[in-house]
Amino acid sequence: GSRFADVAQAPPDPILGVSEAFRASTDPNKLNLGVGAYRDEQLKPVVLSVVKKAESKIFSRNENKEYLTIEGLDAFRKATVDLLLGAGHPAIKEGRVAVVQSLSGTGSLRVGAAFIARFMKGATVYLSNPTWGNHRNIFGDEGVEWKYYRYFDADTVGLDFKGMTEDLQAAPPGSVVVLHGCAHNPTGIDPTKEQWAAIADLCKERNLMPFFDVAYQGFATGDLDKDAYAPRLFVERGLEIMVAQSYSKNLGLYGERVGALVMVLSDKEAASRCLSQLKRLARALYSNPPTHGARIAAEVVNDKELFEEWKGEMRGMAGRIERVRGELQRSLESKYPAKDWSFITKQIGMFSFTGLTPAQVDNMTNKHAIFMTRDGRISLAGLNSAKVEYLADAIVDSVR
Ligand code: PMP
Repeated sequence: GSRFADVAQAPPDPILGVSEAFRASTDPNKLNLGVGAYRDEQLKPVVLSVVKKAESKIFSRNENKEYLTIEGLDAFRKATVDLLLGAGHPAIKEGRVAVVQSLSGTGSLRVGAAFIARFMKGATVYLSNPTWGNHRNIFGDEGVEWKYYRYFDADTVGLDFKGMTEDLQAAPPGSVVVLHGCAHNPTGIDPTKEQWAAIADLCKERNLMPFFDVAYQGFATGDLDKDAYAPRLFVERGLEIMVAQSYSKNLGLYGERVGALVMVLSDKEAASRCLSQLKRLARALYSNPPTHGARIAAEVVNDKELFEEWKGEMRGMAGRIERVRGELQRSLESKYPAKDWSFITKQIGMFSFTGLTPAQVDNMTNKHAIFMTRDGRISLAGLNSAKVEYLADAIVDSVR
């Protein structure tokens, strides 16, 4: 027998497991609303036109495949911080931004978690309830203690701002607060500008460390600057922040694993020391990041023409999602007018948090072959106009 006979079977991942179940289904009507990956109106994956153009430029340069430095490609690091703070931001000029290119949003969060485990010993990480499921794994596997702060109010299908601020008020000084930069996953509910300002003040008063997860910049409103409002505001108010950035969604580079862990600090010396330690952590985790995706992102962001074209493609993606949101809401309103469906277009980003219970989700999947996570989240990126009616019928059948 194997020496590993005692190793228990791990449960399937609650999000990626949905795609596995979808692939296994033979139902001709099957619909995958599980994973948050953009699809076009034919429900096919998309490679952005700017990515293809950047790639052909890169190939024509015939670059080698040498290792990058531990911190990654410099042109990429510059592009990424420019995107986050806005080019020419004082923090960049003052050299107080530490940045390591890392393995997309997930790997960047993990480097951040490793930094917290080593240099913020004993700190508790506060996660929104609910949040993207992998946050718990990422901090938990680093041995960092985490707790929830209240976020979603099921009655109003909105933000429980009072609960959120009460919980953060009660957090011990020196705790870390994970905030979704925009397009909160899974609820699609973001704080208002006034609420962001109050959260920033609270972090300052209580000496909490904000850690922004920025996985959807450009995907919420279709505008890169608007979607960076919150982290920029915190920096403006003099807070130090950590940020995990991802190009999976906005540039459609899912499988290329492109992102960065950024720390905006109060002085240059701190940035230099923190960068040295981030490199030390990354060295042991994966040594150095991959080249190809970083070259693509750098090419697109640093080239004026490609940058403008990218913004157009991003507006196109965000616009298609917004359109099917509206269609779904109207279809549900006509099929089941007794219920208030207005939350669907109030939510923003890739997802809608439907409020379906686990039993109702099982009905969606088992009876209608609509695959989605059991928390009731659906990815609108996996929906097209042709399927709106089918989905609305299934939802009505499940909630009635
Ligand atoms: N954070 C959130 C909130 C996400 O939704 C995602 C993608 N599902 C990620 C981080 C990271 O994704 P990736 O590692 O592909 O960048």
